[in-house]
Amino acid sequence: MSTSSLSPSTHAPGGLGTHTVRGACPHDCPDTCALLTDVQDGIAIKVHGNPAHAHTHGTLCAKVAKYTERSYHAERILHPLKRVGAKGSGQFERVSWDAALTDIAQRLKTIAAHDPQAILPYSYAGTMGLVQGESMAARFFHKLGVSLLDRTICASAGTEGLVQTLGGKVGMKVEFFAEAKLIIIWGSNSITSNLHFWRYAQEAKRAGAKLICIDPRKTETADKCHEHLQILPGTDAALALAIMHELIANNWLDHDYIALYTQGWEQLKARAMLWNCERAAQVCGVPAAQIAALARDYGMSLVNQTPAAIRLNYGMQRVRGGGNAVRAVACLPALIGAWRHRAGGMLLSSSGMFPVNKSALQRPDLLDGKTPRTINMSTIGDDLLRSASPEFGPQVQALIVYNSNPVAVAPQSGKVVQGFAREDLFAVVLEHFHTDTADYADYILPATTQLEHWDVHLSYGHTDVLLNQPAIAPMGEAKPNTQIFRELAARMGYAEPCFTESDEALCKAAFQGKVDFDQLLRDGFAPLAVPDAPFAQGGFPTSSGKCEFYSARLAAQGMDGLPDHLPNYELLGSSAAYPLAMISPPARNFLNSSFVNVKSLRDMEGEPLLEMHPQDAAARSIADGDVVKIFNERGTYHCTARISQRARPGVVNGLGVWWRKLGLRGTNVNEVTSQRLTDMGRGPVFYDCLVQVSPA
Ligand code: SF4
Repeated sequence: MSTSSLSPSTHAPGGLGTHTVRGACPHDCPDTCALLTDVQDGIAIKVHGNPAHAHTHGTLCAKVAKYTERSYHAERILHPLKRVGAKGSGQFERVSWDAALTDIAQRLKTIAAHDPQAILPYSYAGTMGLVQGESMAARFFHKLGVSLLDRTICASAGTEGLVQTLGGKVGMKVEFFAEAKLIIIWGSNSITSNLHFWRYAQEAKRAGAKLICIDPRKTETADKCHEHLQILPGTDAALALAIMHELIANNWLDHDYIALYTQGWEQLKARAMLWNCERAAQVCGVPAAQIAALARDYGMSLVNQTPAAIRLNYGMQRVRGGGNAVRAVACLPALIGAWRHRAGGMLLSSSGMFPVNKSALQRPDLLDGKTPRTINMSTIGDDLLRSASPEFGPQVQALIVYNSNPVAVAPQSGKVVQGFAREDLFAVVLEHFHTDTADYADYILPATTQLEHWDVHLSYGHTDVLLNQPAIAPMGEAKPNTQIFRELAARMGYAEPCFTESDEALCKAAFQGKVDFDQLLRDGFAPLAVPDAPFAQGGFPTSSGKCEFYSARLAAQGMDGLPDHLPNYELLGSSAAYPLAMISPPARNFLNSSFVNVKSLRDMEGEPLLEMHPQDAAARSIADGDVVKIFNERGTYHCTARISQRARPGVVNGLGVWWRKLGLRGTNVNEVTSQRLTDMGRGPVFYDCLVQVSPA
């Protein structure tokens, strides 16, 4: 029987015979593809895209198409490990689950007896699954009363910008981009990081749509668009305000839509009138005529009654003014009434459209009146090094890391490493591999991969719920995150029934009857009932029900109620010592720090690269392929220079995120990024970073 002819089923994992199991891609990517795993005699032999799922369209990206290589990787951690060498030395010995969990529970009890807030969980989107992400883990930590984690590292500035403008992480349905006549791809290298959206954009292009890319890097996506505005990092709000200025100046405005469905128009108008194309051109570093042409294209969508759609991604909000930038862009569709059409409007994230019952999964009631402090994951470098104080509370004495690799991905990694290297810090890491973070663990607990456990997923790029069924039995002694926290809870003496709930029950609880679980079991996915044009007649999930150009809530917090351009903290031209602005977009074959250790993908990626414009390279006598040193006062990163027009003059692109130990001289791009935070959402400013570059 050929594997491709296997029919999907719901087999128990590990049995003999051949079958195909439905699943979901767990990675931090908007596409949330539907997977089919072909299994032969208990072995996963192929992972491919489910052709029945419209958004996946039978195709996976190169990373996940190699998923069996990752799950069966020779370096998978298959047994609990206990540190025997110095922190960071990577020396461990095998121990039993019982010994590991008993000791961990004892250590946590001892710390908690004094102050549970000295324990910090650290997790993010290593899996996007609602069950293996924050369900049993959150229950465990709520019951224990540990510090809460502010999960800001990727998207919180943009989220806040959307919430303050549209009322939530909501937007147009991705499939209707295929019908748009103008698509603005803003801060997104879709070919690399939103492949299935790109298919819809291509469909639109074939039907005559114009594609415009806005990105400081000349990305693979920019190559394929009709226009590219290669703006300076952190200048998106200025560009959006200048577009507004042109819309107003030329009366390309849907006055009815504005009057009926928006709030704060007169104030926004006054703000936008301060931003003509010439002013924005100076800030953005692109010709005024190019901005005017972009505004004209956008305005003509109204005149010609053709749909205009904006696809944003999170790159633009990784700067000081990231929240404001998203707010400014999110105002644009309402000005031309783009939301009236199902192929018009914008999409940054659709995740707010899912009726997830977080309380049922995470059980905040287990806090039982406790109000622990919150620690921001983006400042973990500083916070691990802080002593106890009345403002901070107790020193962090224990760290439980799951679904994350902070030593590689958190900003200013020199400090993060210093914190993780504290001999007095008790660190437990749930992992698949010996990551940079796992090297600093006292215990490494082997976690299952997506092929080995149950989970249920929302998406931030489409509006379907997906179910992941286990295709194979857990490898070695690996356990799902949920099971690890169940067993830890038992050792802590927690008797509440919620600590014995099964993963299947958790999958069902996630949407509490609002999504047909039988449909999920049968098909692997279930589309939400979302209107085709959700804001055609307003109905935004803000408190006013309108698109809020002016946010009274922000003003009440002492902030600007209107979107504005906030210059970067580290503004290009402001430092003689560090005259280059660095952004660190993802390398094409990795997903954040996942997949860096998959050899076939690393071979495709080659080596850690810094893209430099030929002018900047020549000024420093740097040739293509030279090893260079990228530095500022926070640290020094070594990698290979790629002299390329993908970088604009004055801006260098440090492609990330390599594992430090697999890069050159044990460093990665986060050596030089800073721990400062965005204007809204307390997010990191990875792309707001001045550096100097020299031959190594
Ligand atoms: S990483 Fe994205 S494109 Fe690749 S399989 Fe997963 S969801 Fe699909």
